[in-house]
Amino acid sequence: MSSDVNPFESLQSQIDDAATHLDVGEDVIERLKHPERVLETNLTVEMDDGTLERFTAFRSQFNGDRGPYKGGIRYHPNVTRDEVKALSGWMTYKTAIVDIPLGGGKGGIIIDPDGYSETELERITRAFAKELTPFIGEDKDIPAPDVNTGQREMNWIKDTYETLENTTEPGVITGKDLDSGGSEGRVEATGRSTVIAAREAFEYLGRDIADATVAVQGYGNAGWISAKLVEEMGATVVAVSDSSGGVYNPDGLDAVAAKNHKNETGSVVGFPDGEEEVTNDELLTLDVDLLIPAALENAITEEIAADVNADVISEAANGPITPAGDAVLAEKDTIVVPDILANAGGVTVSYFEWVQNRQRFYWDEETVNERLEEIIVDSFDALTEAYEEHDLDTFREAAYVVSIQRVVDAFEQAGTFP
Ligand code: NAD
Repeated sequence: MSSDVNPFESLQSQIDDAATHLDVGEDVIERLKHPERVLETNLTVEMDDGTLERFTAFRSQFNGDRGPYKGGIRYHPNVTRDEVKALSGWMTYKTAIVDIPLGGGKGGIIIDPDGYSETELERITRAFAKELTPFIGEDKDIPAPDVNTGQREMNWIKDTYETLENTTEPGVITGKDLDSGGSEGRVEATGRSTVIAAREAFEYLGRDIADATVAVQGYGNAGWISAKLVEEMGATVVAVSDSSGGVYNPDGLDAVAAKNHKNETGSVVGFPDGEEEVTNDELLTLDVDLLIPAALENAITEEIAADVNADVISEAANGPITPAGDAVLAEKDTIVVPDILANAGGVTVSYFEWVQNRQRFYWDEETVNERLEEIIVDSFDALTEAYEEHDLDTFREAAYVVSIQRVVDAFEQAGTFP
């Protein structure tokens, strides 16, 4: 996380805020603010030149009341124990808001992967997988890719685990490619949930998303798929951006052509459909109906929030609005569909992948998309119901109220041991 706000403290204050609307004892809330356990391990790995190097790695298992821990593994120099703990907490509430039978976990290694060869990265990953093996498994904890990890790292973890355990267990990892037991629909899942949730928000306001103008910040997997799918819903994408800058045309841009331009040139900047170039900050404050932040956390600060013109924001990115920005948007009655619901398509289709792996029976893309749609619509309905019932200020609060209550219900039914 790039802000100086401690993410673990942010998570805890979100839980405290939501708890004020719930009839749950402080002792139970205390449990929900801390991970059940954190593995911290020091990996000693041989480099290509024969020297040894030490890497610190973490796996936080935040809450397993609703099912096995679930969450990605990131490789980044800024990984900290507190960041991993916070991310594992957010995963707990993300799996709960979409009501899938999983808990929350997250892992990371403090490393800048650019500085290492592929063979070194393989040894580092396999060393971490060896440490993880007693703690993971399809009924225990199911890692997935995150920042700077992908299919390659997941294959190394899965292979190390299966070798040490002398088993075949594709469901121990999700985010696999199709040949290794991945799911249809996974690549588009995050963008798909972002726009389904946005469509529901417009409907809630008595409006049709087909009439909306849309700006998308970040044109990677989550952003560009959101742009393509919202266009398919009839909306007009007027601005898109990436780390180099953005383009704007009030009459609309072709989302697929913009992606092709980015593939060819490395950026959306210079895309001929764009009437004018805009900076990322300008894009966030354009006069549009729907804004989709799909780049980094903390993009919408207090200052930018004051100038936001969109009526609805659907958070494809994790944490794109700072807490102070959130407060400003709440004052302005901007509807923010929170990340834990808007981008939950990714973890939902990961859940479908796990289900298919366990059944050893695979679904077609239409089935995946239909089931994802049903889950996002039902979750949105649960959110708006809580929003009205508790007379809450924001959809974010409502999402936490629903998800915390679900975790509490599971915990209370199970009780404590011993
Ligand atoms: P990605 O790497 O595919 O794309 C990121 C995009 O953001 C790129 O186009 C990049 O140029 C752009 N970007 C980077 N810095 C920027 C800046 N300062 N201003 C504007 N654009 C910038 O990543 P992604 O998978 O699309 O993830 C984007 C966000 O969505 C992240 O917050 C991620 O945590 C979240 N998310 C993704 C998934 C998923 O399944 N891909 C699931 C849940 C959440």
